[in-house]
Amino acid sequence: MMDSNRRQFIKKSVVLGLGATAASGGALAGPAPDAHAGRFDFNGPVTISSRNGTRAVRRAMEEIEAGADALDAVVAGVNLVEEDPSDTSVGYGGLPNADGVVQLDASVMHGPSGRAGGVAALEGVVHASRVALKVLRRSDHVLLVGKGAQEFARMHGFPIQDLMTDTSRRQWLRWKENLSVDDEYLPEHDLEDATIGQADGWNERHWGTVNCNAIDLNGNISGVTTTSGLAFKIPGRVGDSPIIGAGLYVDNEVGAAGSTGRGEANLESLASFLVVERMRAGDTPEEACLFACRRIASRTKPAYLLDVEGRPRFNVQFYALRRDGLVGGAEIWGGRGSFAMADRDGARLVPLAYLFEQS
Ligand code: ASP
Repeated sequence: MMDSNRRQFIKKSVVLGLGATAASGGALAGPAPDAHAGRFDFNGPVTISSRNGTRAVRRAMEEIEAGADALDAVVAGVNLVEEDPSDTSVGYGGLPNADGVVQLDASVMHGPSGRAGGVAALEGVVHASRVALKVLRRSDHVLLVGKGAQEFARMHGFPIQDLMTDTSRRQWLRWKENLSVDDEYLPEHDLEDATIGQADGWNERHWGTVNCNAIDLNGNISGVTTTSGLAFKIPGRVGDSPIIGAGLYVDNEVGAAGSTGRGEANLESLASFLVVERMRAGDTPEEACLFACRRIASRTKPAYLLDVEGRPRFNVQFYALRRDGLVGGAEIWGGRGSFAMADRDGARLVPLAYLFEQS
């Protein structure tokens, strides 16, 4: 064990070392990472979400107008979707994994404090977003998974229940009874192999998630993403939703971004972080979201994920909000897609920009 004198000495040296570098204009000096902070003026509250979050943005705006912090507001908003058995992409009634078990992923991020919380492969708790919020507020960690996440939820009084509904159970059973190339287990293959994977393309698979981001009355920004993930996934599979920087990212000085769609593509690009950084550098939310779509399209290499023209055979959507109240979204394949937003003029759907037109 280090004696306390030595520990004090090291602490002082580190502090002195940093001070000397900054004062002498050495290699570590230079513009602060937030040099662009303050370029966006706050113009009043606004919320944005994926299309299935029309109720979420409306609820979040109500909460914000009543004085709530954006983080509590967006979580209250997506709770409505998590509780809804008819949305088979999120929370209660979400489609299960390959073993017939619903495993939820969620994350939250709080702009003013810069803190984040997430849960992955969480079983038996309807409000995964609220458990993610507890991780942020009542632990020193950012991400809890599986059994540990469930125990943490139980410790905080969340009821543990079966999240399957009759509808989701029947859909899972149909899938199970028709198992063929329609799963995520891949044989040995090389990058050029286009004969593996799903015969009908990834777009046939059931995706769905709700992301919701907001600015509150104090100009503070927060976001949440919550999902049951890819339907019939390999048990234990974690998507992009609970991973900070992938399914969600918030910077109080710049804005927020979140994502839905093929999580694997987003995990390999950390694209919500990319969207926020692009906005920091001057992109509009829509431009930043399109940039992320282009990044994913250009870095997808395995042939089984590409069509004959080399374009991704899957979709990813991004939703972004900038500190000045501008919102926008984009997807790889579009034409018919939209996102939800709400401001003082009410809630509405707005078309998503896109890279390639869906036939
Ligand atoms: N992005 C989510 C995931 O990969 C799924 C979705 O948005 O549909 O788990």
